[in-house]
Amino acid sequence: MSASFADWVSTADAVRATARKLEKHAILARYLGALEDPDLVIAARLLAGAPFPRRDERILSIGWSALSDVLLERSGTTGQGMAESYQRHADLGDVAAELIGESPPRGDRLTLADVSETFGAIAAARGVGPKRDLLRALLARADAGETRYIVKVVSGETRIGLREGLLEEAIARAFGRDRNGVGRANMLTGDIGETALRARHDTLAEPTLAHFAPIGVMLATPVLQLDEVGKRFAPPYIVEDKYDGIRAQVHKAGERVELYSRTMDRITGRYPELVAPLLAVPGSFVIDGEVLAFSEGRAVPFTDFQTRLGRKVVAEEVRTRMPASLVAFDLLERDGRALLELPLSERSALLRDLPLQAPILVPEQRTVDESGDDLIRTLEQEFASARARGNEGLMVKDPRSPYRPGRRGMEWLKVKRPLRTLDVVVTGVEWGHGKRRGVLSDYTFAVRDGDRLRNIGKAYSGLTDKEIAEMTEYFLAHTVRDHGRFRLVEPDTVIEVAFDQIQPSDRHESGYALRFPRIVRLRPDKPVREIDTLDEVRRIAGR
Ligand code: AMP
Repeated sequence: MSASFADWVSTADAVRATARKLEKHAILARYLGALEDPDLVIAARLLAGAPFPRRDERILSIGWSALSDVLLERSGTTGQGMAESYQRHADLGDVAAELIGESPPRGDRLTLADVSETFGAIAAARGVGPKRDLLRALLARADAGETRYIVKVVSGETRIGLREGLLEEAIARAFGRDRNGVGRANMLTGDIGETALRARHDTLAEPTLAHFAPIGVMLATPVLQLDEVGKRFAPPYIVEDKYDGIRAQVHKAGERVELYSRTMDRITGRYPELVAPLLAVPGSFVIDGEVLAFSEGRAVPFTDFQTRLGRKVVAEEVRTRMPASLVAFDLLERDGRALLELPLSERSALLRDLPLQAPILVPEQRTVDESGDDLIRTLEQEFASARARGNEGLMVKDPRSPYRPGRRGMEWLKVKRPLRTLDVVVTGVEWGHGKRRGVLSDYTFAVRDGDRLRNIGKAYSGLTDKEIAEMTEYFLAHTVRDHGRFRLVEPDTVIEVAFDQIQPSDRHESGYALRFPRIVRLRPDKPVREIDTLDEVRRIAGR
């Protein structure tokens, strides 16, 4: 007999009722630890707030109107009463609980299996009518508390309030396992329920990457000047062109292939011409790559290729004029073996063993073993040739690094140019930390807005130690107001800052913020009245 859903509800309530993490863990661990295997799987999945595991592509697809019909019926409320309740709660689950109040459930009390089976049946049912009937029968047996969570899951509107990280920690505690092992299994299987079961049976190390359950993509950190590369990690460096297209994670198993975007949406339908060549590769695999078009050996500019995007079904004419290619730059799974923890050099070798054919390509890779000025010179040349091939710049990767899903680290660096820079004036300085203790190393800076200065950002100094020391003395002598850690200074030091992007933001009074700002150099040659203006910032941001 499956465990009662009411117990699950009181556990979820108890977890919500405390803000203390350790207490949340303890409540969950106690509850999960006591469940039988099949219930453990269901309970963990529901705690994650979704009807099905992440790797599962089933959806309930019950619209708002079917849901509210059933709720009105079950509670005997009017549409007006429901609207008022919604104004108070702004969460359909809480609305449902309020409307049902003391109205008693009918029939047998719900078990975890009942809830899970009904969700399965709803997803399988075709048409609004049958789906609504299944939901009606489920809610008839639910009390107010139970209805709250069922409705939360069905409406998909809010999470139950448990981050998967918290759940992973609780599972690790319940079964005395390593937290990272639990996180890894959850990522690979795409199923917190299976993960809990594996934690109990100590089989966390075994799972392979689930097909058709996309995982987060590894991200790169921008490098604004080539001499930064050498500071991030030691040689050797793997250098590849940075292709300017659309990130795609490709899953293939059996007779099925799917492409997923970096937001994990399925985008296979946009690139139908890639399906057959991918299916032609025997066995199963997960590839990380970039989709773009080439014309006469050169990459088609992203803005041109982009005309294909946004269309669900790509017209024959666009497809033949601008057929898509896939540049495969990483291999995450092969024939049932997860490769994420292998070093990049080994993953690359396995990728190059795949029998790939055009339009599936593998980027040319150079291994650079230099440092210092030689490294910079080589990167300069590589950069120029990448641009000549129509690509955006370079990716510089650490051959020793594992694949880290969803992380932006220093193991993948991206070099894009021409760099955007702004000339700005320093308005405030701050004492540094760590290596930069005892010097004023963090600068707040502003652009010009008519006669006024408006702050737009703050950056650690990218100046040399000598320059920082000199500037520290200068700023100490030109402090307008000393706030301890922070000093307002005379706005007469012009610097050049590089950045990745400008975004609207209310963090600074200019109304904009720079993404990844870095101080490039001092501009003693430039007077303050000639620094960049807020209008220029708006222009860059508007593009
Ligand atoms: P950005 O979109 O500017 O943050 O740059 C990172 C993106 O570059 C990745 O998400 C990929 O879509 C893309 N990219 C292009 N070429 C490569 C490559 N050789 N290796 C990794 N990422 C690449």
